[in-house]
Amino acid sequence: MNFHILTLFPEMVMDGLNTSIIGRAQSKGLLSVEAINIRDFAENKHNRVDDYTYGGGAGMLMQAGPVYGAYQSVVEKAKSKPRVIYLSPQGETFSQAKAEELAKEEELIFLCGHYEGIDQRVLDTIVDEEISIGDYVLTGGELPALILIDSISRLIPGVLGQNESFEEESFKDNLLEYPHYTRPREFMNLEVPSVLLSGNHKNIDKWRYEESIKITKERRPDLYKKACK
Ligand code: SAM
Repeated sequence: MNFHILTLFPEMVMDGLNTSIIGRAQSKGLLSVEAINIRDFAENKHNRVDDYTYGGGAGMLMQAGPVYGAYQSVVEKAKSKPRVIYLSPQGETFSQAKAEELAKEEELIFLCGHYEGIDQRVLDTIVDEEISIGDYVLTGGELPALILIDSISRLIPGVLGQNESFEEESFKDNLLEYPHYTRPREFMNLEVPSVLLSGNHKNIDKWRYEESIKITKERRPDLYKKACK
């Protein structure tokens, strides 16, 4: 999987992605991440990539030309046609199901907006879909891009180590995950549930499933409804 991030702030994304599990996955050659600086494709000597919006109103808009130039620079070297995602509060809300779908792609481009956003014409020309990380407005698309890349990367075979797994965790079958405990057995007079110490895996599985149902019902009735279908 090759991730390409079109951004005005490459260091903001690369600093986060070169560490921890994703940094390790890059070293192992399981995935690659690059940030393309949209400013490198500015069409004027002052390196400006934003301008006033037609029709008036506060705020600046990212211009179409530099964004298109940055996109073209990726397309020219990509192994296959990249799927282009514009991070936008107006997009479909991101979900685990979407992460699973995107993890099957070979080349993904994430387009990060800033200011008021990006000239609609280039969005209409290059973007395959818009994705939002929630119903609130951020200053830029970089944090949403990091969130998507993090959740997609961990689904790529080999990225998680043997001790980390995504097989059984929240959102699988529309259920939230059951609680976990580690040593010590007693913490501030609070004991680990005895079933987890029993060694009886059938009972442990049953307890975990029931806890999942209970937590989902309490915290996310919307998910619980889907789980019952
Ligand atoms: N004027 C835009 C609007 O009202 O829809 C908001 C622009 S926002 C200040 C600047 C950039 O941040 C957007 O172009 C987008 O890339 C990113 N962004 C902001 N909120 C986001 C969200 N909830 N999900 C994904 N991207 C977001």
